[in-house]
Amino acid sequence: MAQPQLSQTFNAPQTSTYQRGYDYDLVIVGGGIVGLTLASALKDSGLSVLLVEAKVESAAVAKGQAYAVHMLSALIYQGIGIWDKILPNIETYRRVRLSDGDYPGVVEWETGDINAQDLGYVGEHQALLHPLQEFVKDCSHVTYLCPAEVVNIQYQQDVVTIEMKFADQMQTVRTKLVVAADGSRSRIRQAAGIKTHGWKYWQSCIVAFVKPEKSHNNTAYEKFQSSGPFAILPLPGNRCRIVWTAPHEEAKALCALDDQQFLAELQARYGNQMGKLELLGDRFIFQVQLMQSDRYVLHRLALVGDAAHNCHPVGGQGLNLGIRDVAALAQVLQDAHAKGEDIGNIQILKHYERWRKRENLTILGFTDLLDRMFSNNILPIVVVRRLALWIMRRVPVVKIFSLKLMIGLKGRVPKLAQQ
Ligand SMILES: Cc1cc2nc3c(=O)[nH]c(=O)nc-3n(C[C@H](O)[C@H](O)[C@H](O)COP(=O)(O)OP(=O)(O)OC[C@H]3O[C@@H](n4cnc5c(N)ncnc54)[C@H](O)[C@@H]3O)c2cc1C
Repeated sequence: MAQPQLSQTFNAPQTSTYQRGYDYDLVIVGGGIVGLTLASALKDSGLSVLLVEAKVESAAVAKGQAYAVHMLSALIYQGIGIWDKILPNIETYRRVRLSDGDYPGVVEWETGDINAQDLGYVGEHQALLHPLQEFVKDCSHVTYLCPAEVVNIQYQQDVVTIEMKFADQMQTVRTKLVVAADGSRSRIRQAAGIKTHGWKYWQSCIVAFVKPEKSHNNTAYEKFQSSGPFAILPLPGNRCRIVWTAPHEEAKALCALDDQQFLAELQARYGNQMGKLELLGDRFIFQVQLMQSDRYVLHRLALVGDAAHNCHPVGGQGLNLGIRDVAALAQVLQDAHAKGEDIGNIQILKHYERWRKRENLTILGFTDLLDRMFSNNILPIVVVRRLALWIMRRVPVVKIFSLKLMIGLKGRVPKLAQQ
């Protein structure tokens, strides 16, 4: 069995917080990208943080996923001071092409549309997670416990008591606030009795990695097909990541094909713009859902990232929403702490909920609409969506608005992204 790794000693920090009966100002449960980003974002806040991750550090890094990282997320990482550690290992995209089957009216965005150098980035899980793990290890305000499991939480008016298992021993800590960053099946959310609304999609997503014969030209493609969206995202080393949406049975059957048959089906959807494709490694299948938590906060509890909301992968929004959540929460907590207010108080936490819940709902609705509008061949809907594409191509204000919505440049910008 892997040895537990502890990046800082598990002693309560000798701060005024501890003397007042708290071991940490806040405890973040979940050391995925979202939880680690929050711990990093609080570096200048004066708050002491315990970050608890259930998986061994190396297992947490080894996820076969990759993400589109939007402009606003990049600005947030710049504000934290970690972007220069992430950028060398991810790829840039400077053009986005959106097409509908074989309809020739393709919408194309370029950097010149918003006078930017890049439109966005694509990074593998480890290219984001590893620098964040290293960053928090260097932060004196963070104690990073990994692997450790939260076993029990008791919320009281003034304090939360958390029991956790670490290195085969039970430990108890007291804190002002618990932040659940423990993913879509969040046990913290469920234990707190927070209900969710949403639905599972009739489609699954196949994720695969390929190496094309010709250059990917730093272009991201969203090809809508009647079975669902098909995305091609550029990665370093002239590789590409595919997110291929299809109804469950079709997706399962595609995944069950041998490599050659799978590649032939893939090439047919991919097109020949990059020449022949080589399949790299395994393909993965994901179920997808839309989910919004009824509450993002309770007294002494806040939900962030997938613990609070899930959306369809079209447009690569999910992780980016989580990064925006934590930038907003960090700002709310830092401001409250600077004024000497109780960071776990529901009235403080509601500022975060009001900020993020509505913005996330807009994107959840936008991704749902895109998926439903484009995943069918119903004639009146085909006419409407092609008219929408025509307007997007011909009316610059609509074209720029939709680009900005997709890459996170609409909505309230957190202070971290303004530095
Ligand atoms: C096919 C597909 C493609 C996607 N593509 C994109 C994309 O291009 N761009 C994008 O922005 N998003 C994308 N997403 C969404 C993205 O994957 C998620 O939104 C993101 O990974 C959520 O991060 P998170 O840190 O909130 O949760 P997770 O990544 O689930 O992390 C949760 C962490 O909490 C830990 N944990 C769980 N329970 C406990 C516990 N009790 N105690 C301690 N630790 C615990 C887990 O071990 C894990 O490390 C995609 C999703 C899918 C399915």
